[in-house]
Amino acid sequence: MNKSPKDLVREEVQALTAYHVGDATGMVKLDAMENPYALPQALQRAIAELVAGAALNRYPNPLAPELKARLRRTMAIPDAFDILLGNGSDEIIHIVIQALARPGAVVLAPEPTFVMYHLYALVNRMRYVGVPLAPDFTLDCARILAAIEEHQPALTFIAYPNNPTGNLFAEADVLRILHAAPGLVVLDEAYHAFAQKSFMRRLAGHPNLVVMRTLSKIGMAGLRLGYAAGSPAWMREFDKVRPPYNVNLLTQLVAERLLADADVLEQQAAAIRDARGRLEAELERVPGVTAFASDANFLLARVPDAGRVFAGMKERGVLVKSLHGSHPLLAQCLRITVGTAEENKQCLAALRASL
Ligand code: PMP
Repeated sequence: MNKSPKDLVREEVQALTAYHVGDATGMVKLDAMENPYALPQALQRAIAELVAGAALNRYPNPLAPELKARLRRTMAIPDAFDILLGNGSDEIIHIVIQALARPGAVVLAPEPTFVMYHLYALVNRMRYVGVPLAPDFTLDCARILAAIEEHQPALTFIAYPNNPTGNLFAEADVLRILHAAPGLVVLDEAYHAFAQKSFMRRLAGHPNLVVMRTLSKIGMAGLRLGYAAGSPAWMREFDKVRPPYNVNLLTQLVAERLLADADVLEQQAAAIRDARGRLEAELERVPGVTAFASDANFLLARVPDAGRVFAGMKERGVLVKSLHGSHPLLAQCLRITVGTAEENKQCLAALRASL
């Protein structure tokens, strides 16, 4: 008799629930931290031409030299450090974890944070230690340093700014962690364009630091491109785990072209930063709603009843993310991506009507 998935699939995988992405057809989509703006038409046409001429019959160059050179220039990646590319930064997280997943090795992260650190640690049989943030979402430094001392993590993830809380941790606290951590520290700067603070120029002072970013939040979520910068000694090892053609040809071509027009992307990011301030102020004015200050392209807001407000907003055509139930610090919290001025207006109207 054939064995069933229940017999063969690992218990820890059976116990997981798949990452759920809801259907957003026709909705004001404010659930996934995407950039809401389209590209200028001239740039759209340039991309169409590039794609039309692409040699789709060939494998992409696994080294992606043009794209890496462009990233290095645009993102000010110091020459002494190598670049690792991923199919989204999700894949980079997975690559790093796979490389470090020795039996018994620990992944540590402040919590609540981006859920994939935990998921990939689990799937690769690493031990995951989540250290609660303080109730105001700052790092509880004493607690995290004690956890580092106790668990000696091979790998520590710090999202800077953090998802889903939106805040940047104090630089001094992150530096303390960098000094104390015995293993690798990945600083996940997915929201860097909206925070305008970075540890990239600190790479030289910290041999155990890798800085990771993504193009997803600055207008290229559909392309799936993440990158990490770190010392060649680390990157050489990670490269052995990377699937050789993980960044497809169209992504390489289009990302390189868009980065050549980085000023367009920066103007969009600046518009999002402005809109974030306005949306935060408007949310604060809604009775019963607390909005938390954010350095990212989304806002965390506490409402009287997250379940009811989420459902009410959805009924009114606005999709946000409810975080209630995902962590005790996120009780009655919604995460709202900053959209266009019109989308933000619709979002506020839907929120007010759903309270
Ligand atoms: N890191 C953080 C902190 C994130 O919030 C996200 C996306 N939600 C990612 C990484 C992954 O992004 P991507 O795979 O699109 O690069």
